[in-house]
Amino acid sequence: MTHTSVAAYAAPAPKAPLERTTIPRRELGAHDILIDIKFAGICHSDIHTARAEWGEGGHFPLVPGHEIAGVVAATGSAVSRYAVGDRVGVGCFVDSCRECDNCRAGIEQYCTGELGNVGTYNAVGRDGEPTQGGYSTHLVVDENYALRIPESIPLDAAAPLLCAGITVYSPLAHWQAGPGKKVAVVGLGGLGHMGVKIAHAMGAEVTVLSQSLRKKDDGLRFGADAYHATSDPATFEALAGTFDLIINTVSADLDLNAYLSLLRTDGTLVQLGAPEKPLTVAPFALIGGRRSFAGSLIGGIRETQEMLDFCGEHSIAADIELISADRINEAYERVLASDVRYRFVIDTSTI
Ligand code: NAP
Ligand code: ZN
Ligand code: ZN
Repeated sequence: MTHTSVAAYAAPAPKAPLERTTIPRRELGAHDILIDIKFAGICHSDIHTARAEWGEGGHFPLVPGHEIAGVVAATGSAVSRYAVGDRVGVGCFVDSCRECDNCRAGIEQYCTGELGNVGTYNAVGRDGEPTQGGYSTHLVVDENYALRIPESIPLDAAAPLLCAGITVYSPLAHWQAGPGKKVAVVGLGGLGHMGVKIAHAMGAEVTVLSQSLRKKDDGLRFGADAYHATSDPATFEALAGTFDLIINTVSADLDLNAYLSLLRTDGTLVQLGAPEKPLTVAPFALIGGRRSFAGSLIGGIRETQEMLDFCGEHSIAADIELISADRINEAYERVLASDVRYRFVIDTSTI
C-alpha cells in the first residue's frame, strides 16, 4: 500500500513532550474520504494515553486527537455520503467490525468483534497499521465513520463535540435527562461543561458539583440551575438524596460513596472519568436506596450525528481556547491543573 506523508504532533515515548513530526496516511480506498483537518480538541484521554496511564504498551510515536473537525478534500470512487467541501468530524473510533450485535444496533463503541472499535489513535486498523489521531493536517477515514457538522456550529467550537459532547449526550439520553429530572454534573472541565449545556437543553434541572466556586459564573451561564463546591462538607449534607442522575466527569480519584449518597431512590451515578486506579464502592451506598453505579463509553455513529444535530438546533458548542500547535505541551499542563476554560483546541494550520 502506498502512503502520503503528513505533518503531525506526536509523543515520541510515554510521558515525553509532544513534538512536530511526519506520519503516513493511507491512500484513499473506494469508501474513504480525505479530510483536511482544521481543528483538533485536546481531550483528557489524550493526556492519559500519551502518558501511558492506562497501562503499558501503546503505539509510540503516538499522535493523539479524537475531536477532529475539518473539510472533505477528496473522496474515494464509491463514496456516497460526502462531497468535497463538506464540513465533517471524526470522533474516537474510525472502524469496527460492522457485524456484531452492537455494531448492527448502532452502538459500535461497544463492538465485540475481534478488533473491537478501532480507536482513532493508539489502535491497529484492519490493514494492520497503527492508527494516528487528529493532531495532524490530514486524515483518511471510511465515510461511514465520519460525521456531518451542522452549518450553524463554527468548526473550531464543534471539534470538542466529537468526544466531550457525545460522551455526555449518550448517558443523558440513555438515562432520560429531561423535564422533571434532577441531574448533577461532577467536574466542570471539557466533558462537564458540555454536560451542563446539553442537560439544560434537554430540559433537566442541572447542578454543578465542582471542587470550588471559582467557575460558578461560567457554570450558570452554561445553563446550570445550581452550583456547589465539593470541598465544602455542607454540600453533601444539603444535597443528600437529591439527584435522579449524576454524571461523574472527574479524571482523578473521588470518594464515590459520598456522591452515591446524593442520589435519590433508584438514582444512577454514571462514571465517565477514567482515572488509572480502581475505584471503591461501599455496598450499602447502593443497597440502601436501590441505587445504580454505571459506566458509559462515548457514543455510536448514529447517536453522535443525533447529538451534533441537537447541538446545531440548540446553538450549543464548546467554549474553547484556540491554541497553536507549539503550545500543546503547555495546554496539557493546564488541563492537569484543572486550568481549562473549557477545551483547548489546536489550530492545525500551525502544525
Ligand atoms: P478535564 O477537562 O480535565 O475535566 C476534568 C474535571 O475534573 C476538571 O476540570 C475538574 O473540574 C475535575 N477534577 C480534576 N481533578 C480533580 C480532582 N483531583 N478532584 C476532583 N475533581 C477534579 O477532562 P475531560 O477531558 O473532561 O475528561 C474527564 C475524564 O473523562 C478523563 O478521565 C477522560 O479520560 C475521561 N473520558 C471518558 C470518556 C468516556 O467515554 N467515558 C470520554 C472522554 C473522556 P472542577 O475544576 O470543576 O472540579
Ligand atoms: Zn476524548
Ligand atoms: Zn462490531
